Amino acid sequence: MIDSLLTKGIVDRETYLQKIVAATGEWDLIVIGGGATGLGIALDATARGYKTLLVEQADFAKGTSSRSTKLVHGGVRYLAQGDIKLVREASIERGLLHRNAPHLVKDQNFIVPVYTSWDRLKYTIGLKIYDWISGKLSLGPSVFISKEETMEKIPGIQAKDLKGGVLYHDGQFDDSRLAINLVQSIWENGGYAMNYMQVINLQKNDKGKTSGATVMDMETKKLYEFKAKAIVNATGVFVDDILQMDRPGSAKTICVSQGVHLVLDKKFYPSPEAMMIPETSDGRVLFAVPWHDKVVLGTTDTPVDEASLEPQALEKEISFILETAGNYLLTKPQRSDVLSVFAGLRPLAVPETGQQKTKEISRSHKIIVSASNLFTILGGKWTTYRKMGEDMVNRIEKDLKWKHKKPGTASLHIHGYTAGTDWNDPLYFYGSDATLIRQQMNGTANEWLSEELKIHRKQIIWAVEHEMARTAEDVLSRRTRALLLNARESRRIAPEVISIMANILGKDEPWRAEQLKSFNKLSEQYILK
Ligand SMILES: Cc1cc2nc3c(=O)[nH]c(=O)nc-3n(C[C@H](O)[C@H](O)[C@H](O)COP(=O)(O)OP(=O)(O)OC[C@H]3O[C@@H](n4cnc5c(N)ncnc54)[C@H](O)[C@@H]3O)c2cc1C
Repeated sequence: MIDSLLTKGIVDRETYLQKIVAATGEWDLIVIGGGATGLGIALDATARGYKTLLVEQADFAKGTSSRSTKLVHGGVRYLAQGDIKLVREASIERGLLHRNAPHLVKDQNFIVPVYTSWDRLKYTIGLKIYDWISGKLSLGPSVFISKEETMEKIPGIQAKDLKGGVLYHDGQFDDSRLAINLVQSIWENGGYAMNYMQVINLQKNDKGKTSGATVMDMETKKLYEFKAKAIVNATGVFVDDILQMDRPGSAKTICVSQGVHLVLDKKFYPSPEAMMIPETSDGRVLFAVPWHDKVVLGTTDTPVDEASLEPQALEKEISFILETAGNYLLTKPQRSDVLSVFAGLRPLAVPETGQQKTKEISRSHKIIVSASNLFTILGGKWTTYRKMGEDMVNRIEKDLKWKHKKPGTASLHIHGYTAGTDWNDPLYFYGSDATLIRQQMNGTANEWLSEELKIHRKQIIWAVEHEMARTAEDVLSRRTRALLLNARESRRIAPEVISIMANILGKDEPWRAEQLKSFNKLSEQYILK
């Protein structure tokens, strides 16, 4: 089915859009939002054989889904909160994702350093329960390791009072790469998914039920009307905007909490094992996670009033992470050592009872069905995106009295699937596509656009031709992870990236100038001064 979107082997957005417009009859489902949640729903529906269209107003995973801590995890913290149901569900999903996308999800060792006998007991037992909850899908057993072994594995760790560490297993992944591979899986299974298409209005039939959506192509500003039997609102922190479109004055359903990450060179944390600091001064956990030859530190949990696609890290969040992590690293990092800072917003379901701090609100997902039959999904985690998709499609079938079709994503291999990933290969995250990219490198394999980030010009071409990248930001932030890994370096290579893109897309000089201006402005936010 991927043929439906390829012209001479490449994704041609204009032709693809015309195919969507020409698709006869109504869609079974229109999914609004191309983050983890919307992609999970669209893939589930497509795999069941429903005629499905997903529209994303910006780029796929532009929102929260490219800004996570990069963990595919059951959630040790949720276990501590007693949310066994969520931990069980997420642990099962972790195992399934590890099986279905082994090129992106890695079995990662984590170490919890312990400084008191009570902590040793608490985390040894707690993490055994964590292992037990995941049953057959566990990635490996947790073990207590000695002080010496802990110091060897985490070279910068404070030795004073250290009793040892508890080593456990969780998953680690690349969030926006998974999103792009999910888009490709939707295409391959016969569904449609398109970026830069914003829903600006919902249509209703004479019974007041949703019957379609008005969508604006953000590149041309042209409007399109699409009819559908079911409309799904999977817009993350923007769900309330769509609910307002459906019924002005609707009650608020989510609260927004910001999380910030800092990326450092791995010399600050030269360990292949991740670390979990279990109790920070703000009562959360802080992770140090090795990622693409760097280390990601995070995160925070700060309530914010406004949802935005480009949230800004607060000074207090930055200094909190530097301070807290600094106590456990080989050298205390300074602001000038930060290669990139990025923030994401959690769409948390407003708790039904009482006032809760955002860190205490359950990360479980919740489905709301409006009187108009608009299906909205709130909360959740990247890890559980597949289950969220399955639950949503089951709910639509039930409420709209469709004949139940068996879900099929639990064993569906995600685009790029390949066994035996070599995590040291700079192209590992392309999975089975790496072979094709490597063929195109033909004799130029060592001529990197960025030697430091291992980004080759053929990757830029690949992103435009096969992954629907439309802007420099799409390529530098989500097809490669340059902006998040080293914002200054991404800025350095941006002119070359834009030039390669312009040649393929047939763009003129003003487009190039505009791309450079907007990427430079954006990258400012990721650089600490
Ligand atoms: C700091 C932080 C760390 C996290 N770490 C982890 C982790 O390590 N592991 C984990 O499992 N989970 C993690 N999560 C949670 C996870 O990232 C989110 O649950 C998930 O990404 C949310 O996906 P989403 O699709 O609901 O939202 P989003 O990714 O925000 O997607 C919603 C999309 O809807 C689009 N949209 C909005 N309005 C419209 C419209 N009118 N028309 C078309 N499109 C529209 C937006 O542009 C956006 O792309 C983390 C979250 C945060 C904030």
